[in-house]
Amino acid sequence: MHKLTINNLTKTYPNGVKALDNISIEITNGMFGLLGPNGAGKSSLMRTLATLQEADSGTATLNDIDIFKQPNELRKVLGYLPQEFGVYPRITAEQLLDHLAILKGVTNTKERKELVNYLLDKVNLYEKRNKSVKGFSGGMKQRVGIAQALIGNPKLIIVDEPTAGLDPGERNRFYNLLAEVGQEVIVILSTHIVDDVRELCTKMAIMNLGNIVYQGTPQNAIDDLNGKIYQKMVPREALQNYADNYAVISNKMVGGQPLIHIYSDVHPNEGFEPIAPNLEDVFFSKINIKNVLV
Ligand code: ADP
Repeated sequence: MHKLTINNLTKTYPNGVKALDNISIEITNGMFGLLGPNGAGKSSLMRTLATLQEADSGTATLNDIDIFKQPNELRKVLGYLPQEFGVYPRITAEQLLDHLAILKGVTNTKERKELVNYLLDKVNLYEKRNKSVKGFSGGMKQRVGIAQALIGNPKLIIVDEPTAGLDPGERNRFYNLLAEVGQEVIVILSTHIVDDVRELCTKMAIMNLGNIVYQGTPQNAIDDLNGKIYQKMVPREALQNYADNYAVISNKMVGGQPLIHIYSDVHPNEGFEPIAPNLEDVFFSKINIKNVLV
């Protein structure tokens, strides 16, 4: 069993933005979803854990490794798929993985060849190994990204916004691959896409404005909202009025008309209909009206 422990992590950028505001969290084996809107601080947290940038204060340990004091030890057991996985021009999938394996210290040629073949097979790109990565689809590039993140038997794998830009089929294949990888190690999946977490993660945290605003299982978060979410189709021009009078947690267009979800302890009547909460309601309620709920 692996354990990642983060204590009181803070980071303020030189421009004054507080990206991490005293973050504490504990993560063990399995797929962990870090959900938050753009700008929440997810990438800042992921980059800090990947030892690519420094925090102002706080500690983080992976098992017995002090991540900030022993960054080289951490890097040996880290697999990282950054938000923008840079792809080298005119290089095949096989060459790229071979090159990255050398950088990760796999110096034995035979061992490296076996590893690269294994990884290509694992991410279902063996047949394409001699094709230029530049010409790959978004989903194929992400699979190369996962393959490189698996070099060196990592204990901690961080994937930052991995499904943005993938079509539904590619996204599904990527989910399956991650789910398979995530059984023996810690995988942190950072995303603003609720579906990613619903499909894959048994544990999660929601981040907003540099804070962790929820920590637990997706199901518990949903159960907490039971009997408290109501919906109604409303005229567009009445939206402001509803926002002023109700705890509106989301508003989306259905057939060209706004459908709002509200949080309420009692049935508001006025044409509202009670509904079973879903993870999207959890997400929006935590980031829009967190003070009402905590
Ligand atoms: P997320 O990954 O959740 O979208 P980020 O960690 O990228 O969030 O950003 C958190 C906040 O910090 C945002 O307000 C962003 O504009 C700001 N930020 C991120 N990186 C930098 C940086 N290098 N310099 C200044 N501000 C930054």
